[in-house]
Amino acid sequence: MIIARSAADVHAAVEGPITFVPTMGALHDGHASLVRLAAQGTGPVVVSDFVNPTQFGPGEDFEAYPRDLDADAAIAEAAGADVLWAPSVEEIYPPGFATTVDPGPLAEELCGASRPGHFVGVATVVIRLFGLMQPVRAIFGRKDYQQLVLLQRVTRDLALGIDVVGAPTIREHDGLAMSSRNRYLSPEERALAAVVPNALRNVAASYANGERRPDALLDVPLDALELEYLTVRAADLSPYDPDRPAVVLIAGRIGGTRLIDNLELDPIAPASAGDALFAKESA
Ligand code: AMP
Repeated sequence: MIIARSAADVHAAVEGPITFVPTMGALHDGHASLVRLAAQGTGPVVVSDFVNPTQFGPGEDFEAYPRDLDADAAIAEAAGADVLWAPSVEEIYPPGFATTVDPGPLAEELCGASRPGHFVGVATVVIRLFGLMQPVRAIFGRKDYQQLVLLQRVTRDLALGIDVVGAPTIREHDGLAMSSRNRYLSPEERALAAVVPNALRNVAASYANGERRPDALLDVPLDALELEYLTVRAADLSPYDPDRPAVVLIAGRIGGTRLIDNLELDPIAPASAGDALFAKESA
């Protein structure tokens, strides 16, 4: 695997249609699963490693965000990446850069409500990265469900012709979704964090039992979680419709650490959702 510092170095190193996996580094097994999925296709796999300053709000963890290029390179290479692209801030935001990409009203809802400007920052950097990489396909985690839906929208609206693929959420053994931010949790907080997947599992269990009323579905214990939102929506994040595929989304804090997660609910196969949370354990 090659470590490239510039987009030109990436293009000099690879040939053929690129499958692209954008990340902010601090790679874990969730990222590795995206790279493994990318490597199943033909053509080179390029993983970007860039902590994007514009998607962090004032008082958020931009400075503290974990950075370790050597560890990232080892994980990306083992998962099958051909290139790890670690661009400079100057390459992504050259002098005079002035454009922003606004993905519309959904960017203000859910995570966008507590993180103003976050999804404009995400959409802008991802379109810029797409422009520099010119991939045919890009892989994102379903863990960041709203991000995935918004990026699919932007890619479609701007007719970029890039296939934006959502990959399954990879979890720890107690169901907690892997996240670079989990390392901020103290051992006590880490134990308490299981409340997040447990809440989703409880919603899925009640959905599997035929419950379709949103208030009843969302009536689950939240213990130590300082809840930001727990809501159920249609799978495309439009308002919930009991007869259509849905998704339950949760965000909250344990101590100072913000955690998000979600689980898709399928009215045709309602029992399958909760199982996915603990797939690793049963495997
Ligand atoms: P990040 O570095 O946190 O910006 O994430 C980079 C990509 O990895 C995004 O597409 C995330 O949705 C995805 N990702 C992060 N955590 C997980 C996980 N636990 N399982 C699957 N994908 C993930």
